[in-house]
Amino acid sequence: MTKQFSYLDHNATTSIRPEAREAILHALDETGNPSSVHNFGRGARKQIETARKIIADALDVSAGQVFFNSGATEGNNTILKGFAGKRVLCSAVEHLSSIDCGIQMELIPVTSDGVVDIDELKRMVASNPPALISVMMVNNENGVIQPVTEISKIAKSVGALFHCDAVQSFGRIPFTREAIGADYITLSSHKIGGTQGTGAIIIAPNIHLPKLIEGGGQEKRMRGGTENVPGIAGFGAAAKAAISQLEDYQKLSVLRDRIETELLKSNTVQIYGRDVDRVSNTISCTVDGVASDTLLMAFDIEGIALSAGAACSSGTTRMSHVLTAMGVQGKPDRAPLRISLGWNSTEKDVEHFIAVWNTLRTRLLKD
Ligand code: PMP
Repeated sequence: MTKQFSYLDHNATTSIRPEAREAILHALDETGNPSSVHNFGRGARKQIETARKIIADALDVSAGQVFFNSGATEGNNTILKGFAGKRVLCSAVEHLSSIDCGIQMELIPVTSDGVVDIDELKRMVASNPPALISVMMVNNENGVIQPVTEISKIAKSVGALFHCDAVQSFGRIPFTREAIGADYITLSSHKIGGTQGTGAIIIAPNIHLPKLIEGGGQEKRMRGGTENVPGIAGFGAAAKAAISQLEDYQKLSVLRDRIETELLKSNTVQIYGRDVDRVSNTISCTVDGVASDTLLMAFDIEGIALSAGAACSSGTTRMSHVLTAMGVQGKPDRAPLRISLGWNSTEKDVEHFIAVWNTLRTRLLKD
């Protein structure tokens, strides 16, 4: 019998979409530097500009407001470092590429459900207006949706700019730049079905874009370095596919709920963010009595790929900064287990997960 594999770690990197694969292969077969003026160069340039237009349309901005880069870690660093030395407020559950980017910032607390504490934010801005507020739209560990429109209004009310890390929301829930009132948005291609190492920053009209990488005229002189043409072509194709399938994405909640119902049959399981708005694909939970790396490995042996908290902190099996910010008191080895479905997840994956979970429950838990 062939072993079954189920990939349930789509928040770390989701599967490549066929449309993106096709665009990437096409780009790989075309020679040319997009800055070259000859026919080959113009061919490469066209692929970049096609992708730029797709992403611009998806967020209802003009193509000139989209700047390609190497991904959201670069995007978050670019924006936040651009405000070094100024007062920056950042939610306590942001991705480490924001929180740990090396500048001084003040953390906005979250509630026990993982939602930014709006009253506290109002207090923080009233005393001393910040230059920038940075809050993600969807948390990568628990899928909780932040009230970003309300937060951007608070920012505007005190003359601050608003940055939104939309990595885990783009192509998953519908929104436009204007609707969320963001001055800066950061995106990443491998979370929507493109490849790793490609992303973008979207800016509002007449907003200054900080510069991280100097020494080249690319991206209107704002981001030096020859563009990753295949990656960008794939990003555009993945974005087009993801946006056209937004409705299907919402249906993942049926699969998610089946997993949650099964998990909650054990009184050792705690699921986070269940009582607030969440994206359809993510479950964050802890299991009393068993360390997360033990569970992670046990699932892996059975062919199921999950992660402990965020992929970037996996391997450390320490309590995640997200759960700590939510006030969860845990043992140091109790990182949350993250189950994240994707555009190609199936009922078969869910049945597989449930079967393995029930076996592990008997073997590892004393519930
Ligand atoms: N922000 C969030 C919310 C993320 O989930 C990630 C990826 N884990 C990043 C930023 C970093 O993106 P990238 O992998 O493109 O550097």
